[in-house]
Amino acid sequence: MKWATLAVHAGTEPDPMTGAVMVPVYFTSTYAQEAPGVHKGYEYSRTHNPTRTALETSLAQLESAKYGLAFASGMAATDAVLRLLRPGDHVIVSRDLYGGTYRIMRQVFEPWGLKFDFVDTSDIATVEGSFRPETKMVWIETPSNPLLHISPIAALADLAHTHGARLVVDNTFATPYLQSPLEMGADIVVHSATKYLGGHSDVVMGAIMLNNEADYQQLRFLQNAVGAVPGPMDAFLVLRGIKTLPLRMHKHSENALKIAEFLAAHPKVSKVYYPGLITHPQYLLAKQQMRLPGGMVSFEVKVKNMDDMKNFWKGLRVFTLAESLGGVESLVNHPATMTHASIPESDRLALGITPGLLRLSVGIEDADDLIADLKVALQSV
Ligand SMILES: *Cc1c(COP(=O)(O)O)cnc(C)c1O
Repeated sequence: MKWATLAVHAGTEPDPMTGAVMVPVYFTSTYAQEAPGVHKGYEYSRTHNPTRTALETSLAQLESAKYGLAFASGMAATDAVLRLLRPGDHVIVSRDLYGGTYRIMRQVFEPWGLKFDFVDTSDIATVEGSFRPETKMVWIETPSNPLLHISPIAALADLAHTHGARLVVDNTFATPYLQSPLEMGADIVVHSATKYLGGHSDVVMGAIMLNNEADYQQLRFLQNAVGAVPGPMDAFLVLRGIKTLPLRMHKHSENALKIAEFLAAHPKVSKVYYPGLITHPQYLLAKQQMRLPGGMVSFEVKVKNMDDMKNFWKGLRVFTLAESLGGVESLVNHPATMTHASIPESDRLALGITPGLLRLSVGIEDADDLIADLKVALQSV
C-alpha cells in the first residue's frame, strides 16, 4: 500500500463488536479474566491498552518497521533507548541537537556511566574518527535542531555497523512521511510524536520504531517495567493526527520554502537555514534522503545582542512565540533563551546559536499571511 493509504488505515480496522470506524478510546486500567491468566491479550493498561495497540501498529507501518512502541513523551522514548546501553558504553551524538536530548545525556546518563561525544555528524570523517572500542551507539538528528544540518543516514548506518554499533535516528523533524531511516539502514527510529505526528499541539507523546527482535523485547520490557506509557486519549489523538500527516507535510513544506526564499532576500536577515534552499550546504543530500524539505526554517537576524530582538515579537499577529513545533499553527522560537537555554552560552555560540537566531515551525496557514507577519516583525528590529 502507498503511504497516504497507510496513514489513514494502518492499525485502525473497524471495531469487530460495533463496527465503529475509529478505534474506541479504551478508558480502562484492567481487563476481566475468565480464569487466572486466561484473557483476551489484555491484563493491565500499563502493559497493553487496545487504543495504544492500534497506534503502535500504525507507527510501525509508517516507518516500515516490524515493531512500534508508544511512550509518554519523546524524552521517555529517548530514555528507554539509552537504557539499552550499559555503564562504560560510549555514544557518538549529533552536536546540533534537541536541548532535552542533550540534557538527558549530560545530566542523567553521564552520571549513570555512559560516555558521550557531541560531534558534527554531517561529516563522515569526523564521526569515523570518534569511534572508540566501547562505542555502542551513534545518535543523530537529521534535519537537526535548530540549524537544520543534514547527516547522511545510509553512510552512517554502514559506518556504525562496521564498528558493531547501532544507528539511532531522531526522525521528529522529518516525520516518517518525509524520511525513512530504517529503509536506509538505521537500527532504531525515535520520535517526539508531540510534534508532527500529533500535529495539532494538543498532546505530548513519544515513539520508537525498529526491526531488531532482541532490542524490541528489551524496549517492550522497559516500557512496562518503567511505566512511562501514554494514556488511551493521547493514543487516540496521535492516531487521528497521523491520518492527515501527508497532507500537512506537503503544506508545511510548501509554506516553509516560500518563507525561506522571502527571508533569504531580506536585508535584515544574514543567514537562512533550510534544506530546501539550493544554498543549503547539504541541499543535494536532503533531496536524496528526504521526500520534501519539511516545515522547519531557522534564520539569523542582523542584531548585536538580545536587546535588539526585544521588539520582534511585538509585531507578530499570526506566528506565536512558543517552544515546540510541528502543529498546524505557525510558531517562532528563540533558541538561545528558550529551547536551547540549557546549553552553556559558550557551547551555544560555538554551535551557531546566536542572539539573532530564530527557529520557525511553519504552519499550514496561508503563506501570504505568514510572510506579511514576518515582514512587520523584521521592520521593528
Ligand atoms: C520535542 C523533541 C523531543 C522531545 O520530545 P517530547 O515529546 O517533548 O518529550 C526530542 N527530539 C526532538 C527533535 C524534539 O523536537
